[in-house]
Amino acid sequence: MQLARRIQQIPPSATLALNTKANQLKAQGVDVVNFGVGEPDFDTPSHIREAAIRAIQEGFTRYTPVGGILELKEAIAYRFHQDLGLAYTPAEIMVSCGGKHALYNLFMVIFEAGDEVIVPAPFWVSYPPMLMLAEAVPVIIPTRQENSFKLTAAELKERLTPKTRGIILNSPSNPTGAMYSQKELAALAEVVLKHNLTVISDDIYDKIRFDGAPFWNLAMLAPELKRRTFVLNGLSKTYAMTGWRIGYAAGPAQAIAAAIKLQSQSTSNPNSIAQKAGVAALLGPQDAVAAMLSEFAWRRDDIYRRLLDIPGLSTSKPEGAFYIFPNFSAYFEACQPAPGQTYSQYLAEYLLEEAQVAMVPGAEFGEDHCLRLSFATSRERIATGVGRIKEALAKLGE
Ligand code: PMP
Ligand code: GLU
Repeated sequence: MQLARRIQQIPPSATLALNTKANQLKAQGVDVVNFGVGEPDFDTPSHIREAAIRAIQEGFTRYTPVGGILELKEAIAYRFHQDLGLAYTPAEIMVSCGGKHALYNLFMVIFEAGDEVIVPAPFWVSYPPMLMLAEAVPVIIPTRQENSFKLTAAELKERLTPKTRGIILNSPSNPTGAMYSQKELAALAEVVLKHNLTVISDDIYDKIRFDGAPFWNLAMLAPELKRRTFVLNGLSKTYAMTGWRIGYAAGPAQAIAAAIKLQSQSTSNPNSIAQKAGVAALLGPQDAVAAMLSEFAWRRDDIYRRLLDIPGLSTSKPEGAFYIFPNFSAYFEACQPAPGQTYSQYLAEYLLEEAQVAMVPGAEFGEDHCLRLSFATSRERIATGVGRIKEALAKLGE
C-alpha cells in the first residue's frame, strides 16, 4: 500500500526506537547499560499512585472535559503561579496525553503551511518531525559548544525571514542540560518582540535543576512576551510519570481553545484516572521531587567527572535535566561510517556492539559531534557503562 507523503517524510522517534532496541537486547540476555532513553528510573511516588487507585474505586472512569478536568487545570494554574509567578485562568490551559501531544496540538493550530519556525540545534528529536506534520518549516540554527549550545540573539537575527513565525526554546535542554539565564533570555526577547514571533517554551525539565540557579522562561519576563508564549510542561519528568501520559500547555485562550477543539476530534480527553493522579502530584507533598533531584545531582557530578576522565572527550556540565552531551569528535578519525551513516551514528552502533552501552547519536539532535547519555539510571550502571565506553574507545580503530 502506498502510504501518505506526510508520514513518509518523518523518521520514527530515535530516542524511543533506541530504547526498544536496548530493551530487546536485554530480553535476549545481553547486559546492556541503557543511557538511551530520557525517563526517570524512579517509581511514581506512592501518594500519586494511591490517588489513581482511589479514582478507579470511586468510578472516575468516564469521559472528562476534552481539555482536562477543572480540578487539574486549577492545580496546574496554582503551580504556575506559585513556582513561576505566572497567572493563568483555566481557559488558558489545555491538558493533553503527554507533553508531546500538547506540543503537537499546538503546532497544528498555530502554524500555517510554510511558516518558518526556529529550532536551535541541538534540539529534542521530536520538534522537526512534529513541525513537518503541521506543514511548517523547521529552521535549524546550529549553536556553539563554547556557548553551552545556547542560541544568541545575533544567531537568531541572522536566520529571520519574512516567513519566520515562531521559535522553540527548551531550557533546561534535552539533550545538553544547558539552561538559559534571565539575561540570555532578555536578549532573545528583544528579537522576539521586534519580529512578532510566537514562542514555544518547552519547560518540561524546569524542576530538574542542580546548582540553585533560578529558572526563567520568556513568558516570565514581561506581559507582552507572555501574550505570545505557549508554556509547555507535564508530569512525566518531575514526578516520574512517563507512562501516565499527562502533559499540558498554557497560553493565549483563543489558541488553547483551538488546540482543545483539535483534541476533541482526535484523542478526546486525557486518561481520567491519570488526571486525578495529576492533581495529587501537583498539589501533594513535593518531597519526592526533592529526593529525585538530589539523586540526579549526585549522578550528574559523577558522570561528568567520569566522562572527562576519558581522553579526548569534552563536555559542558549540565545545569538541569538528566542528560549529558559530550563531544566525541576526537575519535572520529578512527571511525568508518557506512554510506549514509554519520560519525555519531557509527560510534553509537560501535559502542552498543563492542561495549553493550546504549546512547543516542548526536545526529538525531542535529549535532553530529556529540552523543547523548541519559543519567536517569543507577549509580552502579553509570560507573559500569562509562568504564566500558572508556575501554571500547581505547580499542577503536585498532
Ligand atoms: N519535551 C522534551 C524536551 C522532552 O524531552 C520530552 C520527553 N519525551 C517531552 C517534551 C515530552 O514528554 P511527555 O510526552 O512524556 O510529556
Ligand atoms: N524525551 C525522552 C528522550 O528524549 C523520552 C523519549 C521521547 O519521548 O523522545 O529520551
